[in-house]
Amino acid sequence: MTSDDTRNAPQDNLHGKVALVTGGSRGIGAATALRLARAGADVAITYVQGKEAAQDVVHGIEALGRRGVALRADATDAVEAVEAVERAATSLGRLDVLVNNAGVGLLGPLPTFSLADVDRVLATNVRGVFLTTQAAAAQLAPGGRIIMIGSCMTQRVPGPGGTLYATSKSALIGLTKALARELADRGITANIVHPGPIDTDMNPASGPYAAGQSADTAVGRFGSAEEVASMVAYLAGGEAGYVTGAEFSVDGGHAA
Ligand code: NDP
Repeated sequence: MTSDDTRNAPQDNLHGKVALVTGGSRGIGAATALRLARAGADVAITYVQGKEAAQDVVHGIEALGRRGVALRADATDAVEAVEAVERAATSLGRLDVLVNNAGVGLLGPLPTFSLADVDRVLATNVRGVFLTTQAAAAQLAPGGRIIMIGSCMTQRVPGPGGTLYATSKSALIGLTKALARELADRGITANIVHPGPIDTDMNPASGPYAAGQSADTAVGRFGSAEEVASMVAYLAGGEAGYVTGAEFSVDGGHAA
């Protein structure tokens, strides 16, 4: 094997690439940032509250021998969302992979959602993703990758309380498929990953509704952030060039 072959081996197939992971300070985003760095990418992450947590992720990226950057950028702020893309590409020199991970969950009966609730969830989970993607599409190198983090809630009739959250995540499915068409001529793919119950701050496996969520899966347990990150890493890599406009469940059989 030549050194070039080694660089392009599956476990290191993002060597020379740059990724931006939104909401990379905790949970699925942090695990994804570290997984992409392990595959050879330099990685920028965004955060809002978790400055120290974001710095820890950057140190983890650097410990893997890659460059890491933490950018404070609130997805609900149109200017910050767009600037984050430009800052990531400027500080790391290019942009190959966008992972739209930043998101908020808000469950409850339909009548209880205020206008502020609706605006916050849609501004984070839909408008922020759209504007980030729009900015990234202008920066992505040929062969680039766009990966959305959706939800298993869009894949079947969900448990109670999911109207607002499912509305927001369902919008990303349409966006993903339209992007797959629009960006195909530049070799850019767009796919969406639907996690099931994943043990994070948003949805702790020790939480009050955890037992029911575990029982809803075929495997009978929560997943880990790393299990979602592995799917993202596959979709980000060179081996996934013929995979676009597609939905992938990482949900322990929740949607089955
Ligand atoms: P966490 O709550 O553990 O982490 C959320 C991350 O998103 C944090 O890094 C947070 O940053 C960031 N974030 C939140 N709001 C914003 C914002 N306005 N702008 C930028 N960043 C923001 O969540 P998870 O890791 O569990 O979730 C990650 C994604 O996966 C979300 O899109 C979620 O909807 C989705 N998902 C999660 C499931 C689960 O069971 N955990 C199941 C299905 C989907 P900071 O802390 O710095 O503010």
